[in-house]
Amino acid sequence: MRRTRTLAGIGIAAVALLALTACNSGSPSDPGAGTGGGDEGGEESTWFEVATDVDLEGSPTFDKMKEDDKVVIGVKEDQPGLGYLDVTTNERTGFDIDIARWIAASLGFDEDKIEFKPIASANREQAIVNGDVDYYVGTYSINDKRKEQIAFAGPYFITGQGLLVAADNEDIKSEADLSADTTVCSATGSTPIQNIRTNFPEVPTKEFDLYSACVEALLSGEVQAVTTDQAILIGYAAQDPDNLKVVGEPFTEERYGVGLAKDDAALQEFINKMFTDGGDIWQAIFDKNLGSSGIEVSQPTVD
Ligand code: GLU
Repeated sequence: MRRTRTLAGIGIAAVALLALTACNSGSPSDPGAGTGGGDEGGEESTWFEVATDVDLEGSPTFDKMKEDDKVVIGVKEDQPGLGYLDVTTNERTGFDIDIARWIAASLGFDEDKIEFKPIASANREQAIVNGDVDYYVGTYSINDKRKEQIAFAGPYFITGQGLLVAADNEDIKSEADLSADTTVCSATGSTPIQNIRTNFPEVPTKEFDLYSACVEALLSGEVQAVTTDQAILIGYAAQDPDNLKVVGEPFTEERYGVGLAKDDAALQEFINKMFTDGGDIWQAIFDKNLGSSGIEVSQPTVD
């Protein structure tokens, strides 16, 4: 029989309280305030209660983490509000980063035992299959094609594909305005670029590894729109509201999951139980990172 121990009873209350305290001082425009230090040189501890005596039988990933005495987490680092690295302070912030930290803490790993690894959209499945990361938390939509290679825990967040355009663009108000005259940029290997190719075949596309490169191309006039999940686009618009705006309504459903090795049902079950039992913590993570973003979502039920 599998025995798992995670944050329970008083532990959960303590975590939620710590998270809510952090919520008062942290905001997307004030990245990192109230959080633990980054993986590179942070001096504080994580604001999550670190579980002790975790026993997760049947998880090859957890066995490896214990053996290595560290957890390697694949993330994004150019997505403000979700997965962001401030290169001046070396601090990582965002909803996904805190979800990643929560999982690590629940498995018994403090901030100084976390190695964050930036992995672009196109390289996620391979990184998981190769064992380069123990798990991946970075705007990663659950879909059947990806499930052929990896497994997902979750969903832990739901958003949808949207459009980012120049603040003075009056021509593109929604996806209905995309045409042969509008070049749309997105990340290689992402679901949004695939959707444009399949359902808007007349629309020219440009792709880069990173969404931040698409935003640069938009600011320079090389492309007319950036498309990806609205939650990501809202973060870019908030950083540069004089030049960028999000238009239209989400036109797909993107359900974010934690990417895991396909054979690790024990870890999948552990994380799903965390999400199911940890509604207060989820809410505190949301409020801290996205509470002032205008995004209105509640925690989804896990599959
Ligand atoms: N959620 C979409 C995906 O998983 C777009 C965002 C991303 O590329 O991370 O492809």
